[in-house]
Amino acid sequence: MLTQQDLAIESLGDCAVDSPLGATGRSSFVDDADGVLVESRVRADAPPAPPVAYQLAGPRRKIFFEPAKTTAALVTCGGLSPGLNNVIRSVVLELAHAYGVRRILGIRNGYRGIDSDAAEPPIELTPRAVADIHHDGGTILASSRGPQDPETAVDFLVSQGVDILFPIGGDGTQRGALVLQREIARRGLPIAVVGIPKTIDNDIPHVAPSFGYATALEAASDCIRGAHVEATGAPNGVALVKLMGRDAGFIAAGAAIVSQDANFVLVPEVPFPLEGEGGFLEALERRVRERGHAVVLVAEGAGQHLFDSEIAETDESGNKRRWDIGVFLKDRIASHFAARSLELTLKYIDPSYLIRSCPANAWDKFLCDRMARAAAHAAMAGKTGMMIGARTGEVYHVPIALVGRGPAVRLDVNGDVWNAALASTGQPRWGQLGRASGG
Ligand code: ATP
Ligand code: MG
Repeated sequence: MLTQQDLAIESLGDCAVDSPLGATGRSSFVDDADGVLVESRVRADAPPAPPVAYQLAGPRRKIFFEPAKTTAALVTCGGLSPGLNNVIRSVVLELAHAYGVRRILGIRNGYRGIDSDAAEPPIELTPRAVADIHHDGGTILASSRGPQDPETAVDFLVSQGVDILFPIGGDGTQRGALVLQREIARRGLPIAVVGIPKTIDNDIPHVAPSFGYATALEAASDCIRGAHVEATGAPNGVALVKLMGRDAGFIAAGAAIVSQDANFVLVPEVPFPLEGEGGFLEALERRVRERGHAVVLVAEGAGQHLFDSEIAETDESGNKRRWDIGVFLKDRIASHFAARSLELTLKYIDPSYLIRSCPANAWDKFLCDRMARAAAHAAMAGKTGMMIGARTGEVYHVPIALVGRGPAVRLDVNGDVWNAALASTGQPRWGQLGRASGG
């Protein structure tokens, strides 16, 4: 359980500068005592407990940085997600137009660009430079994985006169942001670090849903529609669709609910049996015998228990690699049907990169803009060591240190989202892994 102390937001110092937003007649200033309750679910019969609240995001009447003398820098790290360009654009426009910040740098190629020896120097991000980027997927800054030495990075920020750094990325990026902020604090420098969490998988704590998730569901359900056409368009058609989700099955479960066309959804949280009575292959065979077709969704991190060992290998950022469950299942489905001399028309569809690189949909654009402008407000007020959190309709401040704390965000296999996914497929309820948390 979090305490109010856990949610305290660090600050660079007193805010002595009048926000220029006051002159625009803007009346929606918030202050640090405004909050958003952490627990939205309650039991009416529980004894009353003191509220634990996140600090509400939004413009402050008094700010820390003098806008005309402030340099901000943005960096995008980790995998792509719909909405990155929207976030970049809204941070730049809020800083430049609302606050009058004149120098905004776009660091190239992720954390490796925060280095005086980087292959590409930062680019200047002006309102004009970002004017049209919100229609495109990807990130105009490019991204990367892999470590950066914090001393080198902070030396670089100092050499460039950076006052505010906005790291935009996933859990790894936010952990990296915390390392940088600690190095900045160790040197006693007045540089703010305000992260903007990105996770298409929806698996960063204190952010639900994250930007990119709604777009991913929309793009995945378009693929599933095609998969369903393929499955019904051939005798004993089976379409197997691999979706993102290394550790959490939110995209697969959500896409099953949105599309209503999946007959099986396999996620990392549920270690389904493959062979034998009650196993996946038998259930699939039964479905195909009865209905003549089936659509199967599999999250990339599902079914790792079916492999003899874990992969020791990691990616450049140190993330564990996964066995390829999609190709494995494709082969096992084919051999299962062949062993029974049962006709099968199997289509394997892996749309991962097409989904990741889509432009954001309307909801994600809305969310990106709100999170990005909130980050600009927080940074100008001298908040640091924090990232923006968001829950439907609310945007707030979260200490970055909380990203690595507490249980990982996973599908609650007893919760209503997974129940709805199961209801949409009709598949059996298989065993479940570990403890449950999240939606
Ligand atoms: P996603 O996993 O959604 O693609 P991510 O932000 O988690 O996004 P990573 O590749 O894991 O992606 O990390 C992004 C950047 O953060 C990389 O440059 C990586 O080296 C750095 N990073 C990750 N974890 C840490 C850490 N604990 N300390 C310092 N830097 C880190
Ligand atoms: Mg990650």
